[in-house]
Amino acid sequence: MLAVLFTETGVMPIRIRRLLLALSRLRYMVELGVERRVRWALLDAVDLFSMGHSSWAGDIAILLRALPTPIRIAPGDFLSVPAIEAITKKVVEAVDVDLQFDINFLQKTHLLRNRLEYVEASKTLSLVTRRRRHYLTMVPIPAHRIALTRLLLGDHNLSVERLRYRVRYRLPIPREERLCRFCRNAVEDEVHATLDCEAQPTLIDLRTSFLHDIFECDPPLKSEYEVLSHYDFLCRMVSSRKGVARLAKYACDVLAVFDSVERFIPAGYNVVR
Ligand SMILES: [Zn+2]
Repeated sequence: MLAVLFTETGVMPIRIRRLLLALSRLRYMVELGVERRVRWALLDAVDLFSMGHSSWAGDIAILLRALPTPIRIAPGDFLSVPAIEAITKKVVEAVDVDLQFDINFLQKTHLLRNRLEYVEASKTLSLVTRRRRHYLTMVPIPAHRIALTRLLLGDHNLSVERLRYRVRYRLPIPREERLCRFCRNAVEDEVHATLDCEAQPTLIDLRTSFLHDIFECDPPLKSEYEVLSHYDFLCRMVSSRKGVARLAKYACDVLAVFDSVERFIPAGYNVVR
């Protein structure tokens, strides 16, 4: 799994965050006066790198070459603020392209696609790969925030994800057979669990109460519920600043209902011990 770190600008792979910190430190060292010992250390590191020996500068060059889109750095670039700024910009662009590729093509991140965010600079709604999403700050209760985040990242206990992979005594199960543990009529995915399943009384009561509350929080959602597909409506609710805290509580409650009952495993996938 990709190790990531939440920052002010959104989620960032930790190794990239470390690389950006190293480049920031490098820029600081370049701007120091020649009398500072730290700058002497930098010059030594660059000399070692230019001679092909291992050094702190060489480590940065290795990390840059290992990016999904490799970046080359020359010894002279280590001593130039404009060059360091240009390389830093390239690193951020490269990691955004890589993250967006994962979001677009990994099955489990389907709810993260096509999220439009307001961009202050252009005053328009645009696709933004990394941003501290509103639900991370607008959902005050940690358990609710975690439940919603897990639902969106495909890191939940619903069968659409849990039956995707082989485990010790069970083979992976095709998506169309990862059926709901309650109704066994549809794939147990995020939309089915939150908006479709009619087979579990507690679930139906939770949904009725939730829809009543969220239509009160954000009235335009009521008419959108009538015209949008349930998939689109779930995405729409996530984008609602007024309703997202209630949605997060609902996600937490729904996942708890599913957690309380053993999942349905279709016949024919158990491995003989
Ligand atoms: Zn169901």
